[in-house]
Amino acid sequence: MTAPTPHIRLPPLPTIRDLVKLYQIRALRQLSQNFLMDERITDKIVKTAGNIRNGYVCEIGPGPGGITRSIIKKCPQKLIVVEKDNRFLPTLELLQEACNSHMEMNIAIDDIRSFNLETGFAGAPKHNWLEAPPPVHLIGNLPFSVSTNLIIRYLQSVSEKSSAWSYGRSSMVLTFQKEVGERMVAPVRHKQRCRLSVMCQMWCDVDYRFTIPGRAFVPKPDVDVAVVRLVPLEYPMSDVPFKMIEKVLRNIFNMRQKYCIRGTERLFPEDTREYLAKKLLNSAEVDITTRPFEITNEEFVRIFHAYKEICDENPGVAEYDSRACKKLNVDIDNDL
Ligand code: SAM
Repeated sequence: MTAPTPHIRLPPLPTIRDLVKLYQIRALRQLSQNFLMDERITDKIVKTAGNIRNGYVCEIGPGPGGITRSIIKKCPQKLIVVEKDNRFLPTLELLQEACNSHMEMNIAIDDIRSFNLETGFAGAPKHNWLEAPPPVHLIGNLPFSVSTNLIIRYLQSVSEKSSAWSYGRSSMVLTFQKEVGERMVAPVRHKQRCRLSVMCQMWCDVDYRFTIPGRAFVPKPDVDVAVVRLVPLEYPMSDVPFKMIEKVLRNIFNMRQKYCIRGTERLFPEDTREYLAKKLLNSAEVDITTRPFEITNEEFVRIFHAYKEICDENPGVAEYDSRACKKLNVDIDNDL
């Protein structure tokens, strides 16, 4: 048996900066393109994913390939890159050629939101949920609007053990606007505590790893960037269906500074609203004058359970959505 390659030394390649110049790739504002040119930073992002050697990695939004190079150096068995903008195909093909004697690299010019990750990771070993995470990793420096939207979709897939999570507790290293990263990890009573905090913490161990200053990107965005690692919990905090949890949180956090009874009432049709909201909070043992950001994860778990019980006992309640709530549904990003 041949010894595994410790790391891949890529043949001399033009720098990312030179490639961007060579192919005259101008960052597109509509795709929120900001590129990382500093290898120390791209190496640090990849290091955050842990040991990816011989693993299966999907990089989301590789652009000109800075993070891609750092991934290749770590010698995964298979790398799939999913990039929406086909102008990057030549630079990605250059990397593909450079590494193809050591590993498999597939390029998909596609929108990550419609890309089938389960198929993409075909061949990776499937681990039982309670085993150590499988060697399956998602890494991406994406536009903020996409990454916030994507994390909600991925949390749903984690809750259903589908997509990349049909392989087990696959890890994610993704970038977010700094404030969004802070919200994801915000504990109870933190000023950034919101529904995204509770959603992430219900299903994942969430770790805010480090901040990349905006000036590290070309062109420079107006904000700093958070690198966040998420690993699904062995035991999710709640087994109530994802959509139900999302709906409860959206309503309760809709009035963040008001007593939680206000948002809770919005979960129910007007004629039963007052009675059912009190019943819910009473059975969850949560004081009606608690404000949403003061509710602990454990209390939320009891709230979700109590809501599900009320839905099971009262036909039609689960389908009820107040008009304002429907409006919020339209734009998932704005209120996260
Ligand atoms: N990873 C590169 C880096 O760090 O320098 C590029 C980062 S840039 C912020 C985001 C990249 O994601 C761009 O290349 C953009 O074209 C790509 N992208 C944007 N939306 C996407 C989507 N829905 N699916 C796949 N790629 C997308």
